[in-house]
Amino acid sequence: MNIPKRVLSGITPSGDSLHIGNYFGAVKPQIELQNQVDQAYYFIADLHALTTVRDRAQLEQNITGVVLDYLALGLNPKKAVFFRQSQVPAHSQLAVILANFISYGQMQRMHAFKDKLQKDADVGSINMGLFNYPILMAADILLYKPFGVPVGEDQRQHVELTRDIAENFNKAYNQEVFPLPEPLIRTETGKIIGTDGQRKMSKSLKNTIAIFEDEAVIRKQIMSSYTDPNRKSATDPGTVEGNPIFMYHDLINDNVAEVEDLKSRYRSGKVGDVEVKEKLLAAHLQRFGAARQRRQELEQDLSLAKEILATGAAQANLLAQETLEQVYKVTGLTNHLN
Ligand code: ATP
Ligand code: MG
Repeated sequence: MNIPKRVLSGITPSGDSLHIGNYFGAVKPQIELQNQVDQAYYFIADLHALTTVRDRAQLEQNITGVVLDYLALGLNPKKAVFFRQSQVPAHSQLAVILANFISYGQMQRMHAFKDKLQKDADVGSINMGLFNYPILMAADILLYKPFGVPVGEDQRQHVELTRDIAENFNKAYNQEVFPLPEPLIRTETGKIIGTDGQRKMSKSLKNTIAIFEDEAVIRKQIMSSYTDPNRKSATDPGTVEGNPIFMYHDLINDNVAEVEDLKSRYRSGKVGDVEVKEKLLAAHLQRFGAARQRRQELEQDLSLAKEILATGAAQANLLAQETLEQVYKVTGLTNHLN
């Protein structure tokens, strides 16, 4: 069978606005891929958001926010199928089946679960949605039989688990039902460091530089970012390598000459942190100005967003249903009694 060259990825509407880690690690590669592959499927993982979001209005707002973010950043609904996970029931249905093809031991080794365990010591209180999340993610992916899954480094483990589940399933029925998907992770931008200079930039860790927040919020995020901890004053020579502010400059600032000048003055103690940060803010507003403008316009009339999601769900359901039916047949759930 000839499978079209297809990619798939999702984003959880867990709250707050998209940050530059999401953008350079995942959204930008996804948007570029829409023009490079036969088919791109991107979805809003609203079922996954239920592991943390318990406020209906909040969840609705987060979902709308993600749609607007993606459209503003260049998602083209004519090239990519864009939809909500909860509007394609096959995601949940396949997850129930796939749970039988992975062991409890392997699930216990998943990051999301282990991280949570470190924070809340009591294993008995972790909700099963969080524990099962990688199984639902495997279903999210395998339904669409993609060759690749464009994500950030933190999702590598989950894509690998998906491959294991697919392999176990294929072996059990001695058929290549699920092609094994590759994680598509960029070495340069797969793990953007947070403004704390320690951990990955994450919505939940509050160490982000947002893309669409008000300028005052972004200013504060940039101004409070970690730089070189050994530098006490602007006349001390500073370290550029591994310094988050310079990493952000390299990502965001299109004015290469300005960045080189700042780096060389920083190394020789001829520029203060404030100037470096002010220039980063200016570069941010320059880089994302058009997208910020477009997002404001889109927000005025949500009918376009609504229409895109409805069309996307209809298209996604066709493909997802086809795979689910195949799985039902292969497993024996569809038989002569149907
Ligand atoms: P949360 O803290 O709720 O997990 P998050 O900031 O990690 O949020 P996600 O919604 O989990 O964001 O991730 C969306 C996509 O962005 C995923 O593909 C993920 O791998 C990628 N991503 C998230 N953070 C980074 C980062 N710091 N660098 C590169 N890619 C990232
Ligand atoms: Mg995450």
